[in-house]
Amino acid sequence: MANKQIRDTASTFLLNIPKGQEQTFYIKVHTLGTYLGEIIIHKNQNSYLKDKLTFTSLYVFYFGAVFIVILLNIFVSIVTKEKIYIYYAGAVGSLGFYFAVLSGISNYFITTLYYELYVIGIIGLLFFIFFSKEFLEVKKHNKYMNTSLNIIIGALLIIILFFNTDAVYWFRIYLKVSSIALLLLLLTAISSIKYGGQTAKIYLAIIISYILTIGLFSLVTQGVIENNNFNRYSFLLVSFIEMSFFTLMLANRFNQTKNELLKNTLQNEELLEKQVLTRTKELEDARDELQKLSEQDALTTLYNRRYFEKIAKYNFTLAQREKQVFSIMMLDLDYFKNVNDTYGHSVGDDVLVGVSKALLSVARQSDVCIRYGGEEFLIFLPNIDLPEAQIAAQRVRNKIKKLCFSSDKQEPFSITVSIGISQFLPEDKDICNIVKRADEALYTSKGSGRDRVSVI
Ligand code: GH3
Ligand code: MG
Ligand code: MG
Repeated sequence: MANKQIRDTASTFLLNIPKGQEQTFYIKVHTLGTYLGEIIIHKNQNSYLKDKLTFTSLYVFYFGAVFIVILLNIFVSIVTKEKIYIYYAGAVGSLGFYFAVLSGISNYFITTLYYELYVIGIIGLLFFIFFSKEFLEVKKHNKYMNTSLNIIIGALLIIILFFNTDAVYWFRIYLKVSSIALLLLLLTAISSIKYGGQTAKIYLAIIISYILTIGLFSLVTQGVIENNNFNRYSFLLVSFIEMSFFTLMLANRFNQTKNELLKNTLQNEELLEKQVLTRTKELEDARDELQKLSEQDALTTLYNRRYFEKIAKYNFTLAQREKQVFSIMMLDLDYFKNVNDTYGHSVGDDVLVGVSKALLSVARQSDVCIRYGGEEFLIFLPNIDLPEAQIAAQRVRNKIKKLCFSSDKQEPFSITVSIGISQFLPEDKDICNIVKRADEALYTSKGSGRDRVSVI
């Protein structure tokens, strides 16, 4: 028979054997890789097509899945910037290519460098180890296994580097190293069940199935077991199932990462919002404190003159508009200079504080007590007319008179106060008019012997 160059995984020859005759055929096959095959004699020309179609469609189906898984993982790795998806895409792609070479499918496209293409399988295993390390978090949970796998990675890199110098020799070494690698991955998967839960169990099931089906395939290539569809192609089925599972698990992982990111973002936003609220509250408190300090007298803690000016204007307008009344009481301690001179400045301060407390204790809730100057005080009395203010002033005068102050060196002493009061009048143009009248009344009290209340 003629020498026939065929690049086909299911090559066919037409044999013409006349009826009732016998013929002997010798077939010499020259292959680049392992030859796996059987010789089937069909009765008619077209009968082989059915088998060929099944065989091809199996691979078309498988490589279609490989292609989708690679695209999906590349996309997810770009979105998440996580290496594991690239490792997986690399493993699926390289192992897919390796299967294409091993099965002879690659003959359709590539005819040269046949044996050297086996290096793709090594690269695939390398990717799969990287993927498994990430997937089972080996570095975190199993330091020794991590080191062992790193050694395997090193060995595989050496094999890849030298593979083209003598592909047959290095491939034999690879077969040994890959057996150890699969065994290590198996042990890693078993030990990771403790912490890895469901995903580790599925990984273990997949690794066991791989070992078994690749074992079957190897036994077929060595002629130990029958070359039937199950023995020969079951690893393809496992590979397909494996891709489906890992892709689902990686998709789940992607979802988890996304949710975690979302949760973190929300938590960060919440935290930021809390911080902003706390800071705002602190600033508001500080502002209020400053405001209070700017309106408060440091020694007596009464309101100061600035505060009085602020409320006076407002209350004056209110009184004008609402036809309300208010009174002002001006107080000046009598002979206070003598207190300082006799008992010292600090005792003088104590007297000022004592007087302030007395003012607060006598004043109504709505009255506003102010330290108007050194030893001068002012009480703003809303809704109080002059006669009522006079009663209140007498109460204040008596209260202060009854206060008893002590000093270390000398006898206890008391102090008196002169008071002038005035009332808002409809003809008043300004708050100053009322203050001025109270001041004049106070002057009258001073002039007429002190320790008294005067009205203008
Ligand atoms: P008069 O009865 O006429 O009011 O006599 P006076 O001595 O009270 O009045 P004068 O205006 O002569 O003196 C007021 C004194 O008040 C002088 C000043 O040293 C004192 N003084 C003002 N502010 C303070 C203060 O914060 N602490 C102390 N210890 N003394 C003060
Ligand atoms: Mg004075
Ligand atoms: Mg005085």
